Amino acid sequence: LDVLVLGSGGREHALCWKLKQSARVRRLVCAPGNAGIGQVAERAEELAIEEPADVVAFAREGGFGLVVIGPEGPLVHGVSDALRAAGIPVVGPSQAAARLEGSKGFTKDLCTRAGIPTAAYRRFASATEAHHYVAVHPLPVVVKADGLAMGKGVTVADSNEEGLAALALIQGPVVVEQFMEGTEASLFVLSDGKSMQVWATARDHKRAFDGDEGGNTGGMGAITPAPDLPDALRDRAVKAIIEPTLAAMREAGTPFEGMLYAGLMLTRAGPMLIEYNVRFGDPETQAMMLRLDCDLGELLLACAQGRLAEVPARWSADTAVTVVLASKGYPEAPRTGTPIEGVEAAEATGAVVFHAGTRLGADGTLIATGGRVLAVSAKGGDANTARERAYAAVAKIDWPGGFFRTDIGK
Ligand code: ATP
Repeated sequence: LDVLVLGSGGREHALCWKLKQSARVRRLVCAPGNAGIGQVAERAEELAIEEPADVVAFAREGGFGLVVIGPEGPLVHGVSDALRAAGIPVVGPSQAAARLEGSKGFTKDLCTRAGIPTAAYRRFASATEAHHYVAVHPLPVVVKADGLAMGKGVTVADSNEEGLAALALIQGPVVVEQFMEGTEASLFVLSDGKSMQVWATARDHKRAFDGDEGGNTGGMGAITPAPDLPDALRDRAVKAIIEPTLAAMREAGTPFEGMLYAGLMLTRAGPMLIEYNVRFGDPETQAMMLRLDCDLGELLLACAQGRLAEVPARWSADTAVTVVLASKGYPEAPRTGTPIEGVEAAEATGAVVFHAGTRLGADGTLIATGGRVLAVSAKGGDANTARERAYAAVAKIDWPGGFFRTDIGK
């Protein structure tokens, strides 16, 4: 099996790392990839991964039997639809199914119709139309841009003035929600449109600094399984939230084929849906891949071919922790171009170091090229062991230009 992976982050490095271990996979290519991915896969740096026709032509010419889509860009641009139309097996939802992430209003309406627990809400065509509603809404009030906003479209406001200020920055449709109180957890489910497989639970850490201080980031670390989501509660969330969602998508003629990532609020009334993402999590994937105890190539091919029910996933009972190392100044203004040493020493501890924003300098030095740069992952029999191992590996990395949180998984 020849596999093409689209993306260039730590998530794609983790997927490539696991695919490389697959007995089924012969050739592994990642477009565009990064310096770390280059150690386990060929790179196709020139492929325009958001251009459906280009990706189809590349996959055809290369004879790829499976395409795995990492980021949302190609999904939103219809790359998975084009691949499916060309008869090329792909893991990644159609444009229509990707609306579960692309439009918060779409998902909220689906929840209402299917009786899925989520915050009460109202949709508005514009900020102007939402103005009065936000001005008098009980507090806290949650104001959201309906469409993709790169993680910057949501404000939980403690005053109506703050809500109105957030509203003023939104272009296009708006969703206003009631506040849900509880702890957050993520649930990952793989679906081939007919059947589904519960993968793993995780908790991510979105804020830049220890104690959830600082700005929102793409994610500074993750732990799997989620500490607050025991199996019984997870199963309840699957029954009340995931199953009716997948059924509704099927009935609408837009079955969901790919990785569905539910952000949950664990409230006193039970798990409620915050939002969906329609792709593998980053950095959750970097932790989850350490716990997957079966052949990822076989599993993803079965998903892409609608045979998921035939190939059960196996997960180790271990806990895995991923600590993200980011360039200083991230998320506002990361200062890139700084040299990193000690990655081999970190891996010698038994941890795995996934790369996100890296390149190799002329003399072979590793150079930071982005905000999030490395994801150091380790597993252990319990959360403490996994965390200690991850941080022992982080300590081996010599990178004055970077920083990390010290409380991941706590
Ligand atoms: P992401 O970057 O994870 O894709 P997003 O910008 O799409 O996020 P959401 O996940 O919907 O937005 O919301 C971001 C965060 O805001 C949530 O993780 C949660 O902490 C908080 N949040 C959103 N909606 C609510 C709500 N109704 N009640 C309480 N907190 C909420």
